[in-house]
Amino acid sequence: MVKIGIMGLTGCSGCQCEILNCQDALMKLLGMVEISYFPLAQDNNTFEEFDVMFVEGSVTTEEDEAKVLKAREKSKILVAIGSCACYGGVQAQKNDEASLEEMLKTVYGRTELFLKVTKPRAVSEVVDVDYELPGCPLDKRQFVYAVSFLLNGVKPFFPKIPVCHE
Ligand code: SF4
Repeated sequence: MVKIGIMGLTGCSGCQCEILNCQDALMKLLGMVEISYFPLAQDNNTFEEFDVMFVEGSVTTEEDEAKVLKAREKSKILVAIGSCACYGGVQAQKNDEASLEEMLKTVYGRTELFLKVTKPRAVSEVVDVDYELPGCPLDKRQFVYAVSFLLNGVKPFFPKIPVCHE
């Protein structure tokens, strides 16, 4: 059984919701794959070895960084899903405009936060990424294609189907 993980970093969770919208395809796939990690959608999650890990969101906190490093270590194939994971997303668009301290002060009125925030980065700026599925959100058909290709041991080709922007 192919083991899959679906992880969320900093983002709106829209890409993970898009995956949940693949109900019919997911039900068929569930006979062939084990989704052992998908905290947004299920209670029982294990974090051991994965054949494929899908990662949504940009690396924006120290916690994100620790999670994605662990995901890379445990996964044969790592796929960045959505424009946050592929390019940094909206949260990275301010990177060249203002310092992190300036932004925190403007938005929150202080620079100390509960979370240790870092400069938002694409997943590929932190770990090696095997494939990228951009789109905001990614198109659910791309997720189904990706899983189908990988299940059959075929190097995936992902047609670009952006909904809003890349
Ligand atoms: Fe949300 Fe878009 Fe980022 Fe996906 S790419 S997590 S839909 S903001």
